[in-house]
Amino acid sequence: MSFFSYFNRVLHGYSSGSKLLVLCSISSGGLIACADAHSDGERSAVEHNQEEPQKKRVVVLGTGWAATSFLKDLDAKSYDVKVVSPRNYFAFTPLLPSVTCGTVEARSIVEPIRNITKKRSGQIQFWEAECLKIDPANKKVFCRSSVDENLVGSDEFSLEYDYLVIAVGAQVNTFNTPGVLEHCHFLKEVEDAQRIRRAVIDCFEKAVLPDLTEEERKTNLHFVIVGGGPTGIEFAAELHDFLHEDLLKIYPLVTDLVKITVIQSGDHILNMFDERISLFAEQKFQRDGIDVLTGCRVVNVSDKLVNMKIKSTGEDVSVSHGMVLWSTGVGTRPVVKDFMEQIGQGNRRILATDEWLRVKGCEDVYALGDCATVDQRKIMEDISTIFKAADKDDSGILAIEEFQDVVEDIIIRYPQVELYLKSKHFSNLADLLKDSEGNERDAVDIEGFKLALSHVDLQMKSLPATAQVAAQQGAYLSRCFNLKSKGKHDPEGPRRFNRSGRHEFRPFRYRHFGKFAPVGGEQAAAELPGDWVSMGHSTQWLWYSVYASKQVSWRTRVLVVSDWTRRFIFGRDSSRI
Ligand code: FAD
Ligand code: MG
Repeated sequence: MSFFSYFNRVLHGYSSGSKLLVLCSISSGGLIACADAHSDGERSAVEHNQEEPQKKRVVVLGTGWAATSFLKDLDAKSYDVKVVSPRNYFAFTPLLPSVTCGTVEARSIVEPIRNITKKRSGQIQFWEAECLKIDPANKKVFCRSSVDENLVGSDEFSLEYDYLVIAVGAQVNTFNTPGVLEHCHFLKEVEDAQRIRRAVIDCFEKAVLPDLTEEERKTNLHFVIVGGGPTGIEFAAELHDFLHEDLLKIYPLVTDLVKITVIQSGDHILNMFDERISLFAEQKFQRDGIDVLTGCRVVNVSDKLVNMKIKSTGEDVSVSHGMVLWSTGVGTRPVVKDFMEQIGQGNRRILATDEWLRVKGCEDVYALGDCATVDQRKIMEDISTIFKAADKDDSGILAIEEFQDVVEDIIIRYPQVELYLKSKHFSNLADLLKDSEGNERDAVDIEGFKLALSHVDLQMKSLPATAQVAAQQGAYLSRCFNLKSKGKHDPEGPRRFNRSGRHEFRPFRYRHFGKFAPVGGEQAAAELPGDWVSMGHSTQWLWYSVYASKQVSWRTRVLVVSDWTRRFIFGRDSSRI
């Protein structure tokens, strides 16, 4: 290492005031003379330091879908990047239900985060710790190590940031239902899936012990799933396959005692999917003997019973259980809740960002993935400003040419406009300005303009809490970070209607590539783009190929595919580990 780079590194850690002090004290020892001696050929350390401004510090919270996708594409050379997460790996969550029954091994769906950051020339630092508090006023986060407490050294530390990226995901939501935390399993983390796998085997081992009554054996072998969403349904399907393809061969004496029940508060399972898919899943479960209780709200869970209310009649019903999976949706993590209170979002359910993923009411903080929601701006909030900006000749009338001039910017800024045009099957934007009889108009006044766009905001939907959204947001944000300086000088976003100029970037736009619902027996259902629905065995093969291709590394891809192959050849492993 040359003297100059060493000198620079020494100075790097000091504030500018203390740098001066260090320099003064060093100069008195004659070192400055040495620096002067090189001044012709090489820049002085001080100059060098001034020319190369300190990199902006980016702190990323989380190593899930959103954070990993952000880190994979970020130009790490341009920033000083630090990642904090209690998990030192990325987990491919869509395959968690497969881990619960040993169809896929836990190791096959995780990738060490250091493998991912290593590929970025080691310029990203990672610390296995949990962020306990965000201090937006002082641009600091406070963290505590999640590593074994018996090891020596301090567990707590704080980090300063110039930009903070919050991607901490969500936590399970019990809706404060008594007994859920104590007596239910969850399926959110890899450890949860491993615990469930052991619990399923435990239920069987207990049920076959001597001296149990038949009723006791039945209770132990009653698997209850609360929540008929994709996770609950996929787990029920996996469990059914595991029982019938593997376990019942090993525990033949209890074949007739096993039961799976799904409890759903809505009228149908998979109710966020197309109706045909809900029906397909319900019929498949009926054929498989999986009980589906719809319209039931669980009121509490004890070690032996799940107590619920039938919503239509108000009747109380209880079922005994050997194991319960609680899978009813997600809630906000405490660290995010506390942060929301500090920035004036305390009365909201979920952290809100604008369309550029910037946290509302807070400078230089971004939030993405399950921990936040994009608060899409309504076009009706800006309608007068848009009209004014578009009406170039200030005539109070918007001519079709004036409208056409701004329409592209409107569509980019307010994506609901495009959805509205699609829903109305409008091919031409002039269609928007047609009067109530469907006659084309070549100009509208402000009232006509408001009327034309009055239903557009009804198309606004919040984005689902999925890996697909989180990953796209991560990729989007890394692009914005990579082009930050370009965005300032050569903005690429739509024009600002409230102010002059353009937005630096286009707002985040989600592209939906479809969604799957495996229902067991090598069958799946899928909702694909263009309102396409596909169901059956071929869809399961599509599921295999999509999920193999979406793996974050070749290592996990090879492991997952070999797990599937092993399962086909040898079946699943029923040992308790
Ligand atoms: P996560 O991926 O949950 O990552 C959050 C990260 O933050 C983790 O690394 C966590 O350790 C870390 N963290 C937590 N607290 C802190 C803290 N205090 N400080 C620092 N770091 C913290 N989506 C799909 O699109 N398709 C599917 O098929 C699908 N299947 C699913 C199946 C299951 C069983 C589950 C549970 C989810 C599934 N999802 C699926 C949803 C998907 O997993 C989530 O939407 C996605 O993980 C959200 O990404 P995220 O980055 O916001 O959060
Ligand atoms: Mg005009």
